[in-house]
Amino acid sequence: MKIFLGTSGIPLSCKKRNTIEGIKRIKKIGLNAMELAFVHNIYVKKDLAEEIGQIAKENQVRLSIHAPFYINLASEKKQVIGASRQRIYDTADRAERMGADTIAIHSAYYGKNDKENVYEIVKNQFLKILDKMKENGINVNLGVETMAKESQFGTLDEVIKLHKEVKMITPYIDWAHLFIRNKGNIDYNEILTKLKKTKIKHINSHFEGVKKNKKGYWVDIHDSIKNPPFEPLVKEILKKKIDITIISESPILEKDSLKMKKYIEKNGYKFNYS
Ligand SMILES: [Zn+2]
Repeated sequence: MKIFLGTSGIPLSCKKRNTIEGIKRIKKIGLNAMELAFVHNIYVKKDLAEEIGQIAKENQVRLSIHAPFYINLASEKKQVIGASRQRIYDTADRAERMGADTIAIHSAYYGKNDKENVYEIVKNQFLKILDKMKENGINVNLGVETMAKESQFGTLDEVIKLHKEVKMITPYIDWAHLFIRNKGNIDYNEILTKLKKTKIKHINSHFEGVKKNKKGYWVDIHDSIKNPPFEPLVKEILKKKIDITIISESPILEKDSLKMKKYIEKNGYKFNYS
């Protein structure tokens, strides 16, 4: 089993604010993964993607990419669906060039549609994207992220079902989102058992703390790690020998990744870096 830890975007302590320097910084501080955050647009050109891949390989840093947020594969507007497919495709293209095997995607909103319907719509749109990827030799997993809000497509069961039905779709677990959707509870054993049953080879995930709003409900406002608790997750991962990447989406990024590393080492896992 292998555990990868890293940041969402360039580490905060990296002085030169570009991806290549970010990857070198990750290696220097003792981490081994980084996720590029294409939050608003696909900001990496094709040739730069190849260079980034080379640097990551040299530094043994595992890469992934978060697709832009403005995606809704179940929109009522055809144009939005088309643009969403294009954003996912372009993200996958850059991932292929970088040697990143998975991208994270916020896929859709249910809108006025019923959930079963949205599931079919989303699945069909992903199949279209995968067809185009295949035509162009792009072999990247589409990571469908578990989402926090009731209005968002992406319960654990939905993403697992998609993975079972479509080989190139993989669950992208956001632990805090699952915690929020389950009203401040999380059963790591249950989740990892479900995932293990699907024979998934590697789990991609985000971890961050979240906050309560004034009314006392857990909401998707990111915080340093505390809630959901991190250490019980570590114990389950090690007990079940799960291959996993944990990307910090905490506001203090790498500081929390390093804190995660301490918890993992404390529980008996050794990180091997050459
Ligand atoms: Zn996300």
